[in-house]
Amino acid sequence: MTFVAATGNAHKLTEIRRILAPLGHDVISQREAGVYCDPEETGETFAENARIKAEAVCKAAGKPAVADDSGLCVDALGGAPGIYSARYAGEHATDDDRIAKLLDALSGVPEEKRTARFVSAICCLFPDGREIAVEGVCEGRVAFEKDGAGGFGYDPVFIEAETGKTFAALSGGEKDACSHRGRALRALAEALAQRD
Ligand code: IMP
Repeated sequence: MTFVAATGNAHKLTEIRRILAPLGHDVISQREAGVYCDPEETGETFAENARIKAEAVCKAAGKPAVADDSGLCVDALGGAPGIYSARYAGEHATDDDRIAKLLDALSGVPEEKRTARFVSAICCLFPDGREIAVEGVCEGRVAFEKDGAGGFGYDPVFIEAETGKTFAALSGGEKDACSHRGRALRALAEALAQRD
């Protein structure tokens, strides 16, 4: 199956492709599908925002679309930044700005209280209206400082629970094996296989 990835985030596109390709699904970018979509994320949950993105791209492209809405939920911050992870430090901020704001918000919070999880809601929509929605979660905690050179976003400060390493210190394959996005997309591939 070929899907259009409903994202303008090149890092997400890379990960979605890397995870779905070995499971037998091709993913093309919006540009490759000849569509431009940047719908407003007005939902109150990851799942609602994923559906908004998938629907916009599926309609515009007339092809199956897959959307990821994701973010980092930090317990000591009442679940923030959550669905606002991309906009945490304002519209035009950089990953470094967002990380600086997060570390600042957690200053003085001890290691055992820095628990957090990444969540990825995936919505897959077909032009005939069929829909699959799945979610993946990855537990961990927020580091005191950045570590690692890989990944994107909050990866340098998210210590994954099982490996004890930041996402940025893992290889792409290692991150996919335990990440929220890897878990959600493998659940999607399973759901697709059951429908065939
Ligand atoms: P959105 O799903 O496009 O609204 O944005 C998700 C935001 O959450 C990204 O811009 C990142 O800041 C953050 N995020 C989501 N997944 C990851 C990840 O795998 N690593 C690091 N940051 C992530």
